[in-house]
Amino acid sequence: MALSEFMQANSGFLPHGYCLLWKPGLLWTLVGSDIVIALSYFSIPMALLWFTRKQPDLKFRGIFLMFGAFITACGVTHVIEIINIWRPMYATSAGVKFFTALVSVMTASVLWFLVPKASTFIDDHRRMKDELAARNDELQDALDKMQESEKRFRLTQAAAPIGVATVSTKGQFVTVNKALADMLGYSEAGLTALTFQEITHPDDLGADLAYVQALLDGQRDTYRMEKRYYHRHGHIIYIQLDVSIVRDESNRPLHFISMIQDITQQKFNEAALRRSRTKFKKLLENLPTAVVVHNYDTSVEYGNPTAKRLLGMSQADRDVPLNRNWRLLNEDRRVLEAHEFPVPRVIKSGRPIRDATLGIEHPNQPNPTWVKVDAFPMPGDEDDHPQVVVAFTDITDRKALQDKLSLQARTDALTGLFNRRHFMAELDQEFARALRFEQDLALLMLDLDHFKQINDTHGHPVGDQVLRIVGDTMRQLMRKTDVAARIGGEEFVLLLPQIDANKAVEAAQRLRLAMQEKELPLASGVTLHWTVSIGLASLHPGDITPTDLLRRADEALYQAKDQGRNRVCRALEPSNRNVRRLNTQRRSNNSDSPDVS
Ligand code: GH3
Ligand code: MG
Ligand code: MG
Repeated sequence: MALSEFMQANSGFLPHGYCLLWKPGLLWTLVGSDIVIALSYFSIPMALLWFTRKQPDLKFRGIFLMFGAFITACGVTHVIEIINIWRPMYATSAGVKFFTALVSVMTASVLWFLVPKASTFIDDHRRMKDELAARNDELQDALDKMQESEKRFRLTQAAAPIGVATVSTKGQFVTVNKALADMLGYSEAGLTALTFQEITHPDDLGADLAYVQALLDGQRDTYRMEKRYYHRHGHIIYIQLDVSIVRDESNRPLHFISMIQDITQQKFNEAALRRSRTKFKKLLENLPTAVVVHNYDTSVEYGNPTAKRLLGMSQADRDVPLNRNWRLLNEDRRVLEAHEFPVPRVIKSGRPIRDATLGIEHPNQPNPTWVKVDAFPMPGDEDDHPQVVVAFTDITDRKALQDKLSLQARTDALTGLFNRRHFMAELDQEFARALRFEQDLALLMLDLDHFKQINDTHGHPVGDQVLRIVGDTMRQLMRKTDVAARIGGEEFVLLLPQIDANKAVEAAQRLRLAMQEKELPLASGVTLHWTVSIGLASLHPGDITPTDLLRRADEALYQAKDQGRNRVCRALEPSNRNVRRLNTQRRSNNSDSPDVS
C-alpha cells in the first residue's frame, strides 16, 4: 500500500510499524513483549479480584480495586501499542493513556496516603498478634489447670466414700463413682446407662423433679433432700442427696453434680428409736405411777397423765405443760419452801430421794393429795443433758387410813380424849419443856365418885354416857395448850402447861363445879348427877421424872377421896430434905416409879 493511501485510510497517521521500519525482529519482539506484559497486567487484577473476594474482612479494599483498575489500564495501553503498529489509533491511545495516568496518579496518591496507615495497621496487627499469643498462653495455662482439676475431681469422685455422680440435665448418669455403683448394686458402666428417674422411688420423684426444675430455671443453685433409690436387686436404699448445677459462661445449664449418701442404716435406727420412744411413751402414759422429768433448771420436760391428774390438772389439760399452782406439804402438813422440793434437793445433793411422803395441796381441791415420792438424778451424756426424774404414787387413801389408825392409837374411843399411852408421851414432852424453860406445869387427876354405884344402879351404858359427858366437859373448859386424857376406867387427867399452882387450883375447882352441875336425864325419869374428886400437883424442883408429878397428883387424889370426895386436893410439895431423900431413894430404885392407876 502506498504511504499516502495508508495515511488517508488512517486519518493521516502513520502506523507505528513504520517507525520500526517493519523490521520483523524488532517488531515481533515488541509485539511479543507487549502481549506478555498485557496478559500479565490483566492477570494481576484478576488475582486481586479473586483475593478480595476470598478475604471479605480485607482492609484497604479500595486501594486493591484502584490498583486493579490502574494495572488493567496499563495492560490496555500495551494492547493499543500492538494495534498501533499496524493501525494507528493514537487518539484512543492518548485517551487510554490519559485515563491510565489519572488512575495511576490517584492510585499513587491514595497509596502514599494509605502507606502510613497500613504501616500502623501492620504494627497494630503485630501487637495484637503478640497480645493474642500471650492470651493464648494464659488460656493454655487455664486449660491445663482445668484439666488438672478435672483429673483431680475424677480421682476424688472415684475415691470418695460417698456416691458422686455427674448427671445430665435430662437426668442421665454421665459419670458415677464406685461408691455409688456399689451402693446401688450396679457396675459403673451399668449405672451410666440409667437415669436417676428410673431408679428413684415414684413417691419421691415429684419432689426431686421439682427441685431439678428449680435448678434449671435458675431459682436455686443447690438442693438437699432425702429420698429412696431402688437397688438393682429391688430393695430400697434411703439416701441423702445434695445436688448442685454447673453452668457455662453464658449461664446455660451444663450438668448436675450429685453427692449421694446412704442413710438406710440411719433410717432404720431412727425408726427403731421412734418405735421404742412410742412404746416408752405409751408405757408412761398408762402407768398408774406419776412420772415427771425435770431439767436441771427445774423446768419440766415431761409429765405423764397420772402426774397431771395428781397435780390437779383436768383431762382437758392433757396437752399443756404441768402447772405450778399447787403447794407441797410435808407429813406434818407444813407448806414446803421451794428449796425443800424433791427436785432442787436431788440437784443439790446428787443423790436420790426414796419414799418421801408429801402432800400436794391444790386450790381446786379441799384436801391435799398425799403421794409417796421417789426422785433420782439421771446423768446426761453427749446427747442429753442431766435430768431429774420424779415418780410418785397416790397414797391419799392409805394416808387417811394411817392417820385414822394413828388417831385411834392415840385416843380413847369412848370420850375422844387422848388415851393413857399418848398422854404419857405428851407428859414426857411437856415435863422436859417445863424443866428446860423453867416454866410452871400443873397436873390434875380426876376420879368419878362412887361411879360403881352409877353402873350398878343404871347400867353400864348410862355409866358410859356419863364418862362421855365428863370428857366433853373437860374439853370445853381446857385451854388450847392443855392436854386432857382418859387414863383409866373413870380416871381422867388434865395437864396444864405454864400455869402456877394457885391458878391450877382455880381451874380444878372450876372443873369440879362444872361436873357437879352436869346432869343426865334418864328414861326412868330420874335425873342423874355426879361429882369428881381431883388431885392436883404442880411441878416442883423435887420432881425428877414425869412420874413424880403423876404420883403426887395421885396421892392428892386419894387424899381428896379420904376427905369425903367432890373436892380438890393439892399435893404437898416435899421439903428440900425430903426431896434429897426422895431422889436418893429414886436412884436406888433405878427410877422404877410406882404405877398410878
Ligand atoms: P370411889 O369414889 O372410891 O372412886 O368409888 P368408885 O365406885 O368410883 O370406885 P371403884 O374404883 O371401885 O369403881 C370404879 C368403877 O368404874 C368400876 C367399874 O365398873 C367402872 N368402870 C370402869 N371402866 C368403865 C367403863 O368403861 N364404863 C363403865 N360404865 N364403867 C366403868
Ligand atoms: Mg377409880
Ligand atoms: Mg371412882
